[in-house]
Amino acid sequence: MSKTDVDVLVAGAGPAGLAIALALATTDPEMMQRTAVVDPSGAWLARWHDRMARQGIEHLRSPSTHHPHPDPWSFIQHCAREGLPHVVRDGKELPSTAGFAHFTDSVIAEHALPDVMPSAVADFDVEPNGVKVNLTCGNTVSCRRLVIATGIGKPRIGENIPNHPRVRHAEAVDLRTPPPPGTRVVVVGGGLTAAHLVIGAAAAGLSVTLALRSKFRVRHFDVVPGWMGPKYLTGFTAEPNRSQRRMAVEEARGGGHLPPWARRALADLERSGVIEVLRKSPLVGVAAGTNGVRVLLGTAERWVDEVWLATGFDQSVEAHPILSQMAQRHPIPIHDGIPDLDEDLGWAGMPVHVVGAPAALVLGPTAGNLHGQRRGAFRIAKASVPNFEPDPDVARSLIIDRF
Ligand SMILES: Cc1cc2nc3c(=O)[nH]c(=O)nc-3n(C[C@H](O)[C@H](O)[C@H](O)COP(=O)(O)OP(=O)(O)OC[C@H]3O[C@@H](n4cnc5c(N)ncnc54)[C@H](O)[C@@H]3O)c2cc1C
Repeated sequence: MSKTDVDVLVAGAGPAGLAIALALATTDPEMMQRTAVVDPSGAWLARWHDRMARQGIEHLRSPSTHHPHPDPWSFIQHCAREGLPHVVRDGKELPSTAGFAHFTDSVIAEHALPDVMPSAVADFDVEPNGVKVNLTCGNTVSCRRLVIATGIGKPRIGENIPNHPRVRHAEAVDLRTPPPPGTRVVVVGGGLTAAHLVIGAAAAGLSVTLALRSKFRVRHFDVVPGWMGPKYLTGFTAEPNRSQRRMAVEEARGGGHLPPWARRALADLERSGVIEVLRKSPLVGVAAGTNGVRVLLGTAERWVDEVWLATGFDQSVEAHPILSQMAQRHPIPIHDGIPDLDEDLGWAGMPVHVVGAPAALVLGPTAGNLHGQRRGAFRIAKASVPNFEPDPDVARSLIIDRF
């Protein structure tokens, strides 16, 4: 049954939405009676599971202590209890995709998290006592607090790239149903998604060219570990100037990087002649015709059957359907696409909070990944639960966020 009057409405049932529900449930289990979650998929983590399956991702990039539960050690303990194996890559312990799904299913059941309402937030009005939210299904939900956890942005395609079925963003590629062997594909990008697509396509017998804007860059995680603790976050949170913080986020993330194991896998494929790699070959143009696609990559030209763009996501306010509406109705400073949110991730003091990548000026460059989502969830729980007091182990792991 849909809830129509709640304390907290979470828009988005991805890992960020799950982290919020778990932060609320573990501080005050009764909050679950007064919390609702809405997502067009009608299920927890549907987009996450689907993406992992489509791209053939067998394990996460992030370490085993990063997941939506507030207690960092809970995933490792769950695996030990259930006899689930860990993946060790380059000396780092990483969750297997299957183990991660087993864990999230288990904590959703254990904490009796609400069923996900199968709809989407269309728009909302901030009222004196909360927020009135209109859903695309036509229903209205009144809530004391709305949390926008709707994901990592719009697939970045590029302005001059034609809209054509043979030119697809990575989000639209499904390696479970690849094109026939011998199909010529250019994969554009230098990050882990490009590597997953190249490795999957090569295994399916496709003829693959990987085009990199510059050269391969190697890093274990999406940002260096100093950003996951006080080493860099202390200075970041002490910096009052939001433009400086914006620059720090840009510098820390800085385009696609491969973990060492993925770099080695691509080097092996290149050395054995299975794939072609074009370095310093940015995508300049694509012309799609009936018999193929002409791709200009730096000074090189290739005729192929398909182009797959592993070019990331536009995470700016302008590209975000809900946040762009908010920016018009309730203007706040936006620094190169990222909004200047309050310390509790609220928008201009309103009971509307934003988690994920748009929270990067408060949480730092990990805002959009599992680590940052959990830290964001802590701030939402603190704002939502009266007399909020986290478990001491959890509080220790979140020391940087005790604002
Ligand atoms: C290939 C890939 C691998 C990744 N691997 C890792 C990793 O190993 N470790 C890590 O830390 N991070 C990883 N990330 C980064 C990040 O953690 C994931 O992208 C994660 O899915 C982001 O979680 P999210 O909840 O913010 O967004 P999503 O998972 O995208 O979930 C957002 C949800 O919001 C819903 N939604 C959208 N609009 C509305 C609306 N108007 N109303 C209601 N609901 C709406 C969507 O249907 C979706 O279910 C990875 C990202 C990618 C692309």
